[in-house]
Amino acid sequence: MSLAEKLAQERRARLAAERLLELKQAELTDANRKLGRHALALTKRIGATQAEIATFRDENEKVKSDLNTANEKVEQAERRLWHSIQAFQDGFAFFDSNSKLIGANTAYLNIFEGVEEVSPGVSYVRILQVLTDEGLIDTEELSSSAWRAMMTERWMSPMPEPTVVRLWNDRYLKLIDQRGHDGDVVSLALDITATVHYEEELRAARERAEAANRAKSAFLANMSHEIRTPMNGVVGMAELLSDTPLSEEQQLYARTIKNSGEALLVIINDVLDYSKIEAEKLVLHPEPFDLEACTHEVIMLLQANARDKGLTLLVDYDLFMPTNFIGDPGRIRQILTNLIGNAVKFTNEGHVTARITGVPHPEDNTVMLHISIEDSGIGIPEDKIQHIFGEFNQVEDETNRQFEGTGLGLAITERLIKLMDGEIWVESEFGQGSCFGFRLPLVVADGSQINAPELPEDLSCVMIVDDMEINREILNRQLQRLGLTVIPVSSGAEALDAMTPEVDLVITDRNLRGMDGLKLARSLRQAWQDVPALLLSSDPADAQDPSIRDLFAGVLLKPLPRGALFSALAALNTPPALDSALAEQDADSTASAPSLPTDGAAAPAPAATQDAPPSDQRLMRILAAEDNRTNQLVFRKMVKDLNIDLRFANNGLEAVELYQSFEPDLIFMDISMPKMDGKEATQAIRALEQNSQRRVQIVALTAHAMDGDADGILAAGLDDYLTKPLRKALIYERIIKNLPQGALSPEPQDSDLRATG
Ligand code: ADP
Repeated sequence: MSLAEKLAQERRARLAAERLLELKQAELTDANRKLGRHALALTKRIGATQAEIATFRDENEKVKSDLNTANEKVEQAERRLWHSIQAFQDGFAFFDSNSKLIGANTAYLNIFEGVEEVSPGVSYVRILQVLTDEGLIDTEELSSSAWRAMMTERWMSPMPEPTVVRLWNDRYLKLIDQRGHDGDVVSLALDITATVHYEEELRAARERAEAANRAKSAFLANMSHEIRTPMNGVVGMAELLSDTPLSEEQQLYARTIKNSGEALLVIINDVLDYSKIEAEKLVLHPEPFDLEACTHEVIMLLQANARDKGLTLLVDYDLFMPTNFIGDPGRIRQILTNLIGNAVKFTNEGHVTARITGVPHPEDNTVMLHISIEDSGIGIPEDKIQHIFGEFNQVEDETNRQFEGTGLGLAITERLIKLMDGEIWVESEFGQGSCFGFRLPLVVADGSQINAPELPEDLSCVMIVDDMEINREILNRQLQRLGLTVIPVSSGAEALDAMTPEVDLVITDRNLRGMDGLKLARSLRQAWQDVPALLLSSDPADAQDPSIRDLFAGVLLKPLPRGALFSALAALNTPPALDSALAEQDADSTASAPSLPTDGAAAPAPAATQDAPPSDQRLMRILAAEDNRTNQLVFRKMVKDLNIDLRFANNGLEAVELYQSFEPDLIFMDISMPKMDGKEATQAIRALEQNSQRRVQIVALTAHAMDGDADGILAAGLDDYLTKPLRKALIYERIIKNLPQGALSPEPQDSDLRATG
């Protein structure tokens, strides 16, 4: 190879190497550039990471310090909580799910009086054991083991009921245990000693109060008994005294003694009733009764007072309302007597009207009765209206002070009505009159209700003659409801003027201004002799007077019960039956109040024969057991007109002896007697009777007026009872009722058995 070639070769090689170098340099530069860029990026990232780290570090620091404060706070709170729990007066403890004590406050631990075993870790069962072993708990009637068993069972239940335990030192703890979700139990032991002692004091106070109340009731019963017994002497003797020949002045004295005695009895009864209601001792005795008859009885009793004052007493009993209800007739009569009695007492002229209507509730067979007592009396000042229902409250002013009373009547009435689920109210205009009303829900009783009468066919138009508008109005309404046409007029002259051939019947009041009812009847006789007339009168004597009965087709006694009006109307076209209509009304009024004949109303004539007795008849034998000599005397005098064989026993023992030797037909038995009381004597007699066919009627004589006495008396085997002071009429009635066959009628032939009330 030539040099040239070699040089050329070398040059080429150099060139190639230079190119390669260039290439490599370019590559290197490129790589360098890349490297530079990468380094830059790296540097940037490092910076960012460093910043991040710094933040993290900061945050970490902050969290750390926060955590420290939080921890401190929690610790602080826990400390405070624990302090509070320690400061509790009541015991606090908590147990884990295995019933091991985790912690307890001082109050809780103090219960254990320093027994060291009771500390965290001890089990509940062990705690119970310590309580009984150390005598810390009073297990009362339970044995220690029974008490622990009972407490363990309670502890185990999912939700233990709070319970009260008594410690040895008479402290009471109420244990309340609450189970948490994880099985831990929080226990509270509340010290309720003060509450328990307070409750004990309350109970003792209540017992004392109840004992005092019982003592009060017993005292009242005794007082009533003690007062009634001598009152029997006073009232009975005064009654007997009035039956003897006396000068007019002496009559007045005797009557005053009797009336005052009776007034005193009313007061005693009021006080007794009131305290019974107060002591919630008053029990109602519901039974079927006739409300209309009951109202008329009350009116009948007050009739004499009303007539003395010239007042008209009216009853407006809704024509189509039932009369038989179930209620306590005695108490309803008491309410009516009080309200109607007040109305009569506080009315000097005009009228007193008892209106009885009602809204039937067929779904439960009751009627919501609506009874109002309206008077035209002195009225009650507006500001006194509520006051008068309070006990012993009366309106005190000139017009009122002249009236007697205790001020208890309305208080008792209001309470009685409330007791019967009713409601009372009053409306009054001072100087004009008052209206007392009450509502009473009563169940309708089965039995005969008064039905509308079958009227005579030719009766369609009735003339009413009465100068009292309210009277006309009531009768008018009743007749219209029977489908009759009514011509109401207010005087005899008007009646004669208004007479037309259409009038089929005239009903006239007896007392009319100007021409009275009798004169009117005589005038009618002349021109209208075919038209019958009925007389309305409030004097029972009119019904007996032949000259009056001659003039009229019937005499109707006021206030007029529906039954009496109906039968008088029904009897119109059968003249001979008129007497029976009358007789029926007589019978009505007496039958409804057999034991209460008043103001001269004849007592029911005993159905004893008036014929001369066959000689083989014996006297009725009556035994009266009574220890009090005065009362024996009263009794003897009361029956002195009767033809009977009377013996006295001075005590229960004598009564039983006489029962055997004397064989009485009837025994009157005082209840409280020495040696053997009336109930014991009766039981002894009933025991003797077991072997015989006899059963003698025994009527208790009692001064007790408390409720429940009657039950006790009847339970002892007595048949009936009379309350002292004794009444002649009631004694007669019992005697006549028990007259045995073959005995002579006790009724004397010549003396009338008129009751003197
Ligand atoms: P008492 O009649 O025994 O005084 P009450 O409690 O029955 O007792 O009546 C309380 C008072 O209410 C009566 O004293 C009287 O002032 C008044 N009062 C009651 N009823 C009437 C009445 N119908 N008219 C006017 N005042 C009456």
